[in-house]
Amino acid sequence: TTGTSDDRKYIIATDTTFAPFEFEDTNGEFVGIDMDLLNAIAEDQGFTFEIKPLGFNAAVQALESNQVDGVIAGMSITDERKEKFDFSDAYFDSGVVMAVSEKEKNISSYADLKGKNVAIKTGTEGATFANSIKDKYGFTTTTFDDSSNMYEEVKSGNAVATFEDYPVIAYGINQGNGLKLATEKEAGGQYGFAVNQGENEALIKMFNEGLQHLKDSGQYQEIVDKYLATPE
Ligand code: GLN
Repeated sequence: TTGTSDDRKYIIATDTTFAPFEFEDTNGEFVGIDMDLLNAIAEDQGFTFEIKPLGFNAAVQALESNQVDGVIAGMSITDERKEKFDFSDAYFDSGVVMAVSEKEKNISSYADLKGKNVAIKTGTEGATFANSIKDKYGFTTTTFDDSSNMYEEVKSGNAVATFEDYPVIAYGINQGNGLKLATEKEAGGQYGFAVNQGENEALIKMFNEGLQHLKDSGQYQEIVDKYLATPE
């Protein structure tokens, strides 16, 4: 990553699979709300970039060690992360929710997790939340690097539940991933685009300006609707 802000190609890391924000479509193309937003923002602002689907935790680590310029991965803006990273304006509301197998009949609250195992994804808000309540409710956790393996663990019965971002798990459930929601979602969690603190200020500025343009023109809503609108 060399050159001035207009001729350089930014390297942006993302998750491997986090539909509807980033995922491979049936043609093997990397698509999703994050991907479409970044494409549209880059076009609006006249910058170029390359996407590296590293996995969520690996993407955040790569940013921290300056191997990439930014992360867009349904990444929640948190106070802890703000100590290391600069975030764009928030572009999507999220929040953690508990999900179980659609066949599950006995787990419908955190208290039901006593003595059970729960699947979580390394370095995520869902994992942080699960870890913050596991002693109180007496459950154990198994960690995974990606959401699909985490869901498999629940379907196979090795874990009774998982903690995942609401818009992602709700989308997956709609697509028939074999899970169902078990609780109301926890408050909080807005997604932002991240760069290292004090670096790539120009990129954050372009992201925010482009995002605002997309919101004003209606293109932001079109992108979201493309993935989330329920057919009439
Ligand atoms: N929003 C969650 C976080 O920031 C999960 C992101 C993800 O798994 N891609 O931790």
